[in-house]
Amino acid sequence: RAKEAGRGVTCFFEAEMEERLLERGLLEQDLRAALAKGEFSVSFQPLHNCGTRDVTSFEALLRWENPERGKVSPADFIPVAEECGLILPLGRWMLEQACTVAASWPHPYTVAVNLSPVQFQRGNLPAQVAEVLAQTGLPANQLELEVTEGLLIEDSEGALATMRALKALGVRLALDDFGTGYSSLSYLRRFPFDKLKIDKSFIQAIELDAGARAIVDAILAMGHSLNLRVTAEGVETEEQLAFLLRHDCDEVQGFLLGRPVPAEQLCRSLRKKVGAAMA
Ligand code: C2E
Ligand code: MG
Ligand code: MG
Ligand code: MG
Repeated sequence: RAKEAGRGVTCFFEAEMEERLLERGLLEQDLRAALAKGEFSVSFQPLHNCGTRDVTSFEALLRWENPERGKVSPADFIPVAEECGLILPLGRWMLEQACTVAASWPHPYTVAVNLSPVQFQRGNLPAQVAEVLAQTGLPANQLELEVTEGLLIEDSEGALATMRALKALGVRLALDDFGTGYSSLSYLRRFPFDKLKIDKSFIQAIELDAGARAIVDAILAMGHSLNLRVTAEGVETEEQLAFLLRHDCDEVQGFLLGRPVPAEQLCRSLRKKVGAAMA
């Protein structure tokens, strides 16, 4: 009896595993086709000066809309694109798009582009970035590249060399999602970052959790003592913004002050703003 039941369980897991693998394979197929079919687009979310609320820059965020699947979150498809290598052409496309759009803005805002560790490890990133800057005409000091801590753990020597080469081009580097990984202080000293972005999970706990407030405060103090600019991600309430302002946060990003918008919509509103300022 027990043996039979055991076999049933095994079969159940096998069937489930098989289904998951199949679904993964289908997602991978759709992803590969998506680039050629033009299903990807770029949205931009503003970052604001914490005190004045003026826009300082925009983060480029990848969007995928598939006729059958609808909108798929980058949190769901980026890991798959990384595993199957598609992140290399997709990352290159994203960099070109973001720089092209930013070069067309009527005001020289900085644009921030997220990079996968896979792009760092393969694909001669500094040469690629130099090429895209030359091709789009975007000044290097208007490009910021965001990386996560995973990169620094996996191959820190290689990452350091690549980061130094990127800095030599004149682009800026930001450490994204700070606080969720190992968050080692030695990374901050060792790698040439310009900016730290505090992960939204801490910001969203500001009103609820004294521990989160202490961590945010500590990250701000530490970042500033290392001469880094500090951005808070995921700011959704005035209370969060007030806390961040009191603790000398430099910059905020979040639904309270601005959601990600499609490139064309942002361009229209930037032109309108310039037109209004000149009228
Ligand atoms: P991220 O780089 O930390 O980007 C910020 C994410 O937080 C975005 O999610 C943004 O829409 C979301 N967000 C901003 N403000 C708020 C807020 O007030 N509340 C909440 N709940 N969320 C907020 P999104 O666009 O879904 O992207 C998720 C992640 O996918 C990004 O996190 C980034 O890690 C990755 N990603 C997006 N585009 C790219 C890309 O072009 N390349 C790579 N490698 N990764 C990307
Ligand atoms: Mg980011
Ligand atoms: Mg982030
Ligand atoms: Mg994040």
